[in-house]
Amino acid sequence: MADDLQAAPEGADNDSFHEECGVFGVWNVPDAAAVTALGLHALQHRGQESAGMVAYDGEKFHSHRGLGSVGDNFGDQKVIDRLPGRIAIGHNRYATTGETALRNVQPLYADFEFGGFAVAHNGNLTNANLLRRTLVRRGCLFQSTTDSEVFIQLIAISLYSTVVDRLIDALKQVIGAWSLVALSNEAMMGIRDPLGVRPLILGRIGSEGTGGWVLASETCALDIVGADFVRDVEPGEIVVINDKGVESIRPFARKAERFCVFEYIYFARPSSLMEGTSVYEARKRIGRELAIESSVDADLVVPVPDSGVPAAIGYSSQSGIPFELGIIRNQYIGRTFIEPTEHIRLLGVKLKHSANRPILKDKRVILVDDSIVRGTTSKKIVEMVRLAGAREVHLRISSPPTTHSCFYGIDTPERSQLLASSHSVDQMADLIGVDSLAFVSIDGLYRALGKPGRDDAQPFYCDACLTGDYPIPLPDQADNADRQMSLLAEIR
Ligand code: AMP
Repeated sequence: MADDLQAAPEGADNDSFHEECGVFGVWNVPDAAAVTALGLHALQHRGQESAGMVAYDGEKFHSHRGLGSVGDNFGDQKVIDRLPGRIAIGHNRYATTGETALRNVQPLYADFEFGGFAVAHNGNLTNANLLRRTLVRRGCLFQSTTDSEVFIQLIAISLYSTVVDRLIDALKQVIGAWSLVALSNEAMMGIRDPLGVRPLILGRIGSEGTGGWVLASETCALDIVGADFVRDVEPGEIVVINDKGVESIRPFARKAERFCVFEYIYFARPSSLMEGTSVYEARKRIGRELAIESSVDADLVVPVPDSGVPAAIGYSSQSGIPFELGIIRNQYIGRTFIEPTEHIRLLGVKLKHSANRPILKDKRVILVDDSIVRGTTSKKIVEMVRLAGAREVHLRISSPPTTHSCFYGIDTPERSQLLASSHSVDQMADLIGVDSLAFVSIDGLYRALGKPGRDDAQPFYCDACLTGDYPIPLPDQADNADRQMSLLAEIR
């Protein structure tokens, strides 16, 4: 989901897609709201700026949405008590720019002639501006500035009669990445876009036969509520969950999957399994590839915590160079990106990490991190490690250079702010102030993940942020209305 849609002028390049989200839902579970709060808590890394929930008690829908973390919003039992019933869905949202207004906090909810409908969205729609303009011309009154509201408006004007048919009608008009958890009076639904860019999984909770169902962005949310993993919701699939069980609907023609590779590199929680693969193990394997491709003589392998830890373990085990926690992270600080201005970001890095001086002094250090975005973090960390007495600093990055913005639901700044979009590796090394800098190659990344890569007929992952190959068209990014229309015509 992204917001600021109203602010985007006709045909303008819209750099407001700075959203990351987590979604969760339960069907037929005692204390559904408390369980959902736990699930959202496990998914907190996917979004820390707002949290919301819609619960259904069989007669009425109840909701609570607020700015801040899951704990800020659902840590109080009185709030949970106001969300009765055995059914609930929830959403975490993380926006670094754009509006963080309460009206954009999800799940979104609307009353229709068929009953209530709530939806929580992870991903970004790439034709939301276009759709919104069309819908406004048709008289739709938008209540928020988030792209996800087009789902609600399209369902509202659909001529089909059932909820599921209206939903399918809406899905056929949107372009982009979407993993949705939706709720009506009759069912909870889990939906993934045809390329399956963002994750969504199905789990079982309670005893077979009488138990309930869980939908979540990641398996770490199943673990916390004691649910068992059943399977991924498949790309292009709608699962409809009610008291009769789970029905699978496939309204789209089958396409080859393009799951987001950045979920493995950075975004997902290491304890999660994605598509049957442990995120932690995948990161370690990327670290090993990095050591094979870019070895250097040194005394220590030091991760930039927390994101660089698994890759550093992999690098150390492959190279035989000892792993040490040469940088200690303050656990009480949010992610660096949470503060939008450059000044605060610089401050944030210092607050977040401190050097472990006795470990670093007089050592040749290999620093490992998962990615370089603007280069701010690396520059500060390298400075700190040198001040602590390190003799040499070699930076190793467990992703290829991030050269392009993501329009499918990972927060990235606009392209001009991505260091790698305008600097060579040597230039970046100079700027960051390291003795050497190396990124894992795109082939090394695919080797580590064990999936068809760039030399195969079609790469398994969406790697647009690393290659500029966008597998889903970006009509809202087209620089003029004619180009937008011709892009849409190509798609249809
Ligand atoms: P920068 O300082 O701009 O180069 O940011 C790089 C740091 O941000 C790395 O340590 C990454 O772990 C982290 N990072 C990368 N992508 C994201 C993202 N989408 N959201 C938040 N943090 C990120």
